Amino acid sequence: MPFKKKTIPQKEPAPKKVLTEEPKKDLDEEGEGKSGKTFELLRGFRDILPEDQGRWNLVRDTIRSIAESYSFDRIDLPILERSDLFQRTIGKGTDIVEKEMYVFTDPSNRSVALRPEATASAARAYISHGMLDRPQPVKMWYLGPMFRHDRPQAGRYRQFYQAGFESFGVDESIVDAQLIVIGHQIFKQLGLDVKVEINSIGTAECRAAYLTELVAYFRQHRAKLSEDDKRRLQKNPLRILDSKEEVTRELLQGAPQILDWLDEKSKEHFMKVLEFLEEVEVPYVLNPYLVRGLDYYTHSVFEFVQADDTGDGAQSALGGGGRYDGLVEILGGRSTPACGFALGLERIVRALEAKGINPPERPPARVFFAQLGDASRRVGLKLFEEFRQAGIPVAEAFGKNALKGQLETANKLGVELTLILGQKEVLDGTIIIRDMESGAQEIVDVKKVVGLVKKKLYQEEGVEPVSHSPVVDS
Ligand code: AMP
Repeated sequence: MPFKKKTIPQKEPAPKKVLTEEPKKDLDEEGEGKSGKTFELLRGFRDILPEDQGRWNLVRDTIRSIAESYSFDRIDLPILERSDLFQRTIGKGTDIVEKEMYVFTDPSNRSVALRPEATASAARAYISHGMLDRPQPVKMWYLGPMFRHDRPQAGRYRQFYQAGFESFGVDESIVDAQLIVIGHQIFKQLGLDVKVEINSIGTAECRAAYLTELVAYFRQHRAKLSEDDKRRLQKNPLRILDSKEEVTRELLQGAPQILDWLDEKSKEHFMKVLEFLEEVEVPYVLNPYLVRGLDYYTHSVFEFVQADDTGDGAQSALGGGGRYDGLVEILGGRSTPACGFALGLERIVRALEAKGINPPERPPARVFFAQLGDASRRVGLKLFEEFRQAGIPVAEAFGKNALKGQLETANKLGVELTLILGQKEVLDGTIIIRDMESGAQEIVDVKKVVGLVKKKLYQEEGVEPVSHSPVVDS
């Protein structure tokens, strides 16, 4: 019987809302809306969306596999630490400590900070877990978010991810060289062309003598310096070497260079690092102005800089590091030489994107499971798990009801086989295997279906699917 069409009484059309002014937002000091109906991201923070995870996984997996191949063990460090851990190590007069740290008082009235970097935390962990007494070097790597309240721009965020490598306990030049090789290998494996810039800032003693000269030189030209650089000259003169000001960069041409002030031991350490790099053919460029932003560095400092700059004005340093022989002692531990580096993951992902380097595709499903009704869904749920554990990728559309729609999905996915489980098959303990190319169907025992599908798909190819079952030690 045809349905009677109901006529729906027409409502008076609602009067159109006329917006006379923008809805009022309570703006915070950075001009961000606070009281809109929806929430907005904080400036400098971002979501890493599902569609971007492939490239992120490529970077994370590459770093992990290289770390393991060089016998670095992973360490996970807390995101929140006592703020003086960073204040004491990174140093006064650095931008990080002076204006970029997220510092607040916790409910126990302690001053804590979201970590702006993780080297200080790694050194803290090295001391607090008595790693000084383990065989040296202790080689650790980490990966996680860092926080700096810096001015956001392309490639610079307030929350960003770093992967870092730290080697504690050995002062030999080969440690510095091998760390540079590791960084270089990561970029090479990812397909990125990166140059290594390197410098030595010697020991605290030779640096002090150099700084006296440097300050004297810039004092003669003080009038020409920007306010920022004048402040640097007073608070942390080494930082003037990485000033971006045009005038300062010109003045630097005639400025004393740290390499001329290195003592014999520092010179020898540095020369050896360079020789090792030549030995393994890692190209480097000497950059006498490279000092790195943090106070705790000694001897080698280096940066990995994108060779084929994206040209979009984004930051081109993909990572950096150096030796920090004084750090453990600053934190109250026994004097311990150490060296490390950190890579910026956002910038690496961005560089991959710019070069069109894509992650390998996820293996496509080769089997589709089509169900008809709840009883077959129940069997399907279990079967899906069996296939997954056997390493056979299966797709499904458990949310759909009609067979037609499910077969269309199977066709779209391009699977080779579709398994059809209707109510009759559930009662009989069978299942239909449909060959999607020929349309041929066979009814088989549901208990044997995993083995049969495995045979059909993999035996001809002579390969085994990758099993997802955990390996249990016997
Ligand atoms: P740094 O500890 O400052 O030497 O940083 C090491 C690497 O982390 C840099 O070379 C960048 O690739 C990355 N990095 C540092 N700061 C940021 C930031 N604010 N946003 C994104 N990446 C950053």
